Amino acid sequence: MTRSAEKGEPSEYRIPPEDIHRAFEGMGANKPCPICGHEHWKLLHGEDDYPSIVLLGGDQMLSSPPLHIAITMLFCGNCLFLRSHPTKGLIQWLEQNPKEEPPPPEE
Ligand SMILES: [Zn+2]
Repeated sequence: MTRSAEKGEPSEYRIPPEDIHRAFEGMGANKPCPICGHEHWKLLHGEDDYPSIVLLGGDQMLSSPPLHIAITMLFCGNCLFLRSHPTKGLIQWLEQNPKEEPPPPEE
């Protein structure tokens, strides 16, 4: 199975963890785990790998190579409950809500 369709695509979807947490805070999506109430979410990824989900066509048949979209997955630090968010949507949110830079020092 192919890991990534296009050259350069993985880096497009690589968001610094601090930006991911900034996006969820900005959305108000930083609530405790709905299953166990634990407050800490961890980012799910391997060393160079990030999760994606495979999209099935309307007839439930897999295309070849399968279509997939990158997702950002967080898991509860206690009960391991998984939550998933389309990474592209996070990138769009970050583009629309750029990090506020501190004003340049006055001379
Ligand atoms: Zn939990």
